[in-house]
Amino acid sequence: MSDHADPVSLAILTSGGDAPGMNPVVRAVVRTALHVGARPFAIREGWRGAIDNLIEPLVWSDVSSILDKGGTVIGSARSTEFRERDGMRKVAANLVRAGIDRLVVIGGDGSLTGADTLRERWSGLLEELVEAGEIEADLAARHPELHIAGVVGSIDNDMVGTDMTVGTNSALCRIIDAIDALTSTAASHQRVFVVEVMGRRCGYLALMGAMAGGADDVIIPELPPEDGWEDAMCEKIRAGRAAGRRDSIIVVAEGCMDRHGEKITAQRIQAAIKERTGESPRITALGHVQRGGTPSAYDRWMSTLLGYTAALEVIRAEPGEESCIIGIRNNRLQRLPLVETVANTKKVIDYLEEGDYEAAVRSRGTSFSRIKSLFETLSSPLGEDRYFKDGWRPRVAVLHAGGLAPGMNAAARSAVRLGLDRGFEMLGVEGGFPGLIRGDIRPLSWGDVDGWVSLGGAELGTARSVLGIEDYFGLARSIEANGLDAVIMIGGLAGYETAWNMAKEADRYTAFRLPLICVPASIDNNLPGHDLSIGVDTALNTNVETIDKIRRSASASRRCFVVETMGRKCGYLALMSALSTGAEQVYLHETGVDLAMLTKESERMNRAFDGSRSLYLAIRNEDASKYYTADLLRRVFQQEGHGAFSVRSTIIGHQQQGGIPTSYDRTLAVSLAALAIDEVTAQLEKKERVGARYIGQHNGKLESHPIMRMDEEMDMKNRVPLDPWWISALPVLYTVAAREDTS
Ligand code: ATP
Repeated sequence: MSDHADPVSLAILTSGGDAPGMNPVVRAVVRTALHVGARPFAIREGWRGAIDNLIEPLVWSDVSSILDKGGTVIGSARSTEFRERDGMRKVAANLVRAGIDRLVVIGGDGSLTGADTLRERWSGLLEELVEAGEIEADLAARHPELHIAGVVGSIDNDMVGTDMTVGTNSALCRIIDAIDALTSTAASHQRVFVVEVMGRRCGYLALMGAMAGGADDVIIPELPPEDGWEDAMCEKIRAGRAAGRRDSIIVVAEGCMDRHGEKITAQRIQAAIKERTGESPRITALGHVQRGGTPSAYDRWMSTLLGYTAALEVIRAEPGEESCIIGIRNNRLQRLPLVETVANTKKVIDYLEEGDYEAAVRSRGTSFSRIKSLFETLSSPLGEDRYFKDGWRPRVAVLHAGGLAPGMNAAARSAVRLGLDRGFEMLGVEGGFPGLIRGDIRPLSWGDVDGWVSLGGAELGTARSVLGIEDYFGLARSIEANGLDAVIMIGGLAGYETAWNMAKEADRYTAFRLPLICVPASIDNNLPGHDLSIGVDTALNTNVETIDKIRRSASASRRCFVVETMGRKCGYLALMSALSTGAEQVYLHETGVDLAMLTKESERMNRAFDGSRSLYLAIRNEDASKYYTADLLRRVFQQEGHGAFSVRSTIIGHQQQGGIPTSYDRTLAVSLAALAIDEVTAQLEKKERVGARYIGQHNGKLESHPIMRMDEEMDMKNRVPLDPWWISALPVLYTVAAREDTS
């Protein structure tokens, strides 16, 4: 913190289009400021409110119960007056009179550009105000600079340089819900639906929505389709029908053009399909539904981290520091230069005007281009069988192991389609490794996996058992008898351990020397070599939905809830559930639970209920402690509350495994399945069988490691990774939950 005599004052404003997740940022900024002794203010109604002096101090409770609210509780507006120097002068006067020279601005590129212009002009504006006698010279002297930290709030995800913007994930959830609903009605009537999504200049929502929704085709602004696209689209629809598809979904972003600058609207697509196929496609424009509603889990926990970091950034800003944006790269927060980031974002429009589509797509990042190309492959039905080489179709089996994880089907579908495209014969194994021993194997075609992208559960079944010495003979025999050239295991630790055991026995059983690729799918998020496994985002969203309901149930009573989540000994799910629902405390295996903690917690709880509190929420990871169970915690808190409040414990249980996969899990499933197919391809091509490997996305990079190194990354006794990257979010939870200590 700077050494001002007065406490540092900072203001927060939300500007431009609203986005779900803005409120969690506001909450985190306010509470972080209070936690470090700064004074937070809200500027209501965006830049217009700054002109109209709608600036007011905020206290802790002003941002209570807003984590789950869509939009922005402090209001947003657009203001033409703020674009002019005169408007900015009014803003400078209002801010400096309130003692504010630090701003956290949540908005799109326009709002952030405006903020930086205000920063640039700040000292000049204050001089003018002093000269005009509107403010005192010593007031101006105490605030020589304006410091800005930006958080990008925009459902479009159109800021170059940051992976995600606040609201995008929630908007994708709405899009996927809509596409899933349309798919079932489209399939019933074998109908084509054209779905228009938001994104005037950015095709992120359209592309990810199409990918996660299993659409037939997508049109995005960055890549206007080549002439003749109407024929190609209709041909794709026809080929899909021939391959067994009953539904056809075309996704188009609202701002698309063709290569001649003519708009490609949903109506134009509808007419083109009607003219060529005689079918009568239906149009669904999702409109503002995409913007509204409660924020997703991601838009709560990530926005909380963004708000916390932005507040500290602006409070600790030193003289002469340039404005920054707190962005997200590879699930980690990053400080980005505001001016450069906004300029790079604006360049995309120039690229499109110049017809440099390659540059436009490239500026969206490598994963955008990768997903675009994977979408093309996954959505294009294969005509006839392909061969890997010289008439050879390697036989590649797909199976699941471990507990159910939402998204397993999406991963299996992608592996099958991408494998067929490579010239593999793809086989599905029913019931995991035990099924493989039994020989429960069937070929899977492109059409067989149609619709799997949105299915919860596992169509191929799964098995939790780890195979041991008594199973090796049967397993090796089955691999040989079925002529398997490779196995892709999509699942959890039981699958990894079986693969590990097989690798260890590969000298004795030569059948085990085949490429065996482990793809992380587990709601526990406890596997090596990756940040997030398939299924965990869905489980987290299930928890958030459930805990929201629990919170509401307590609104009319004085109640403490102890909610238990899954995760085995890995606390990811518990901590992120706590951060996303505004819990006061979280019990993790990583940090342990002891009697001293519970004593402190009881005291804290009593103090809270002595005040105005009607709810106290504590989240417990299922294996946080062997002895301090959810029920025991309930009894302790009940006893220590001496009747001042009641305590209930709830175990969320298997709903966490059974959800419909979120868009994040579906896209991750595609990405990891593609990497698994690349790994198999590389090993088969080289004829150098390096055997079992596990893959994952770690720190933004897709990586693959030999399974024999698993114990270097894992605490095998507790079955958790050695380096839980997410644990750094714990102090943030305690900061925004107003604990006097942060432990
Ligand atoms: P969205 O993603 O919803 O478009 P945005 O922040 O880009 O969000 P804009 O309408 O461009 O939305 O900007 C919001 C407000 O920010 C404007 O009404 C205006 O007050 C201010 N603003 C935008 N651009 C500038 C600019 N170049 N200079 C000064 N102020 C600006």
